[in-house]
Amino acid sequence: MITFLSGGTGTPKLLRGMQKVMDRHEISVVVNTAEDIWISGNHISPDVDTVMYLFAGVLNTDTWWGIRSDTFIAHEELMRLGIDEFIAIGDKDRAVQIARGEMLRNGMRLTNVTRTLCDRFGVRENVLPMTDTEVTTQVRTELGLIHFQEYWVRAKGRIAIQEVLRSYREPPVATEEVLAAIEASDAVVIGPSNPITSILPILSCEGIRPALRGKFVLAVSPFIGNAPVSGPAGALMTAAGFEPSSIGTFNCYDGITDVFVQDVRDPAEVPRSVRFDTLMVDEDKSVELAKEVLRLIKNP
Ligand code: GDP
Repeated sequence: MITFLSGGTGTPKLLRGMQKVMDRHEISVVVNTAEDIWISGNHISPDVDTVMYLFAGVLNTDTWWGIRSDTFIAHEELMRLGIDEFIAIGDKDRAVQIARGEMLRNGMRLTNVTRTLCDRFGVRENVLPMTDTEVTTQVRTELGLIHFQEYWVRAKGRIAIQEVLRSYREPPVATEEVLAAIEASDAVVIGPSNPITSILPILSCEGIRPALRGKFVLAVSPFIGNAPVSGPAGALMTAAGFEPSSIGTFNCYDGITDVFVQDVRDPAEVPRSVRFDTLMVDEDKSVELAKEVLRLIKNP
């Protein structure tokens, strides 16, 4: 078994290849939940949904969020009614969020909610939210301290970030299912996700770092040069005090990686890194990188 630590874009691109080259029952994914948010009364877990929809074969891989060919009738009607729903939620996607919200309100753990939803989507991989309690990435901006989604979706990432914070009522603890998956794995792969908003929230859950000790950990960089392949990782890395590059990513992971993979085009020199073409522009590219990662795990 291999356990992947994932956000909602870069690592899912790698998982798209992995599911073609691995037994799907041998894949566990620990997914970031610090971008979760209640919207219009329902619970969005954007990264969990992307991973679940990918494995279910229904993900919109043009955007890497939402369900392919979804409609937006309820969203448009809500906007007409004056509800400021700042994230465009598709109708089928909303059904998932209604179901999740309902199960959570009935007292189910997010882990069990996710398992139930994955079963209903026919997902064979083991999709695990990093923790069962609420934790939120917030950023300090000229608009004050706002949810990461407010920054990235509502403000389109166009405002400066001074600080990145994680807020919670109780410190997040990795679930026993997450720890068991890591324990049962031959390797842990930190995919090319945003180090600050996707990976650090997972690494910060109590129990994760000790569980990784003694495991073979491979990380793939989301940066080429001083810019991420996509998204706001650069601004977030700078605000969190790291260089926006593969070197900053390597430092952010603070010595937990045994192998660090960076792109062949990346001018940054990371000590003892291995280089491949990490730009997963289509499924074939994802499969190629997945094969290289598997090879490295078998012959480090
Ligand atoms: P989010 O939850 O939507 O922010 O998604 P993730 O955290 O999983 O992934 C975002 C990161 O994926 C960004 O920092 C991108 O640079 C990185 N990324 C996206 N596509 C690719 C790719 O094809 N190759 C690599 N190396 N990184 C990628």
